[in-house]
Amino acid sequence: LFISFEGIDGSGKSTQARLLCDHLRDLGYSVTLTREPGDWSEGGKLRDVLLNGVLMHHKTELFLFLADRCEHLVQVVIPALSRGDIVICDRYTDSTVAYQCFGRGLELGFVERIFGWCDFPIPDMTVWLNLSRQESLSRMEGRGTSDRIELDFDLMSKISEGFSELARRYPDRIVPVDGSGDPEEVFGRVCDSLKGLIR
Ligand code: C5P
Repeated sequence: LFISFEGIDGSGKSTQARLLCDHLRDLGYSVTLTREPGDWSEGGKLRDVLLNGVLMHHKTELFLFLADRCEHLVQVVIPALSRGDIVICDRYTDSTVAYQCFGRGLELGFVERIFGWCDFPIPDMTVWLNLSRQESLSRMEGRGTSDRIELDFDLMSKISEGFSELARRYPDRIVPVDGSGDPEEVFGRVCDSLKGLIR
């Protein structure tokens, strides 16, 4: 079972992915919790370049995120799925579409063709934590440090619209979850959204 968590920065993806992982492990499931970009042997270096490096051409950025995904899949996700783990991935292909296509303006058809060419597995379910930009901003202010991408407010609006569009386009896979409120409240909604998938 492959579950991804998506949403804008500060929407609570990492917190909810962690809560779900702990919950499923308590229920006795074997779970791999992982994230993009960077969660593979050499991925920390790539993550650092992507988040803290110079401003790159949009296509350079796209290909670095995709390269990160190829290796992350080979090293982490596919082996975990093969041994029967539930894989929970904090960000995946929808982030690429929302950020690089809706945010940066790259052509959607082009990016989706690359997904197909790379044979990226499609998640069984994607939890989209829907939170207004205003609320996510105030959460991030509380958090302190921000990288160069999170600081671009106009970009974040376009990305937010991207996730909405994706949820409209793939209603069978993407489940919108209201991301507002405290973590326990949101987690209750996440569990409701996964009913039927995990028992
Ligand atoms: O979710 P997390 O904080 O780990 O994301 C890392 C950073 O990479 C964030 O600033 C996010 O905005 C950015 N990102 C991006 N394009 C993607 C995925 C993430 O610009 N496809």
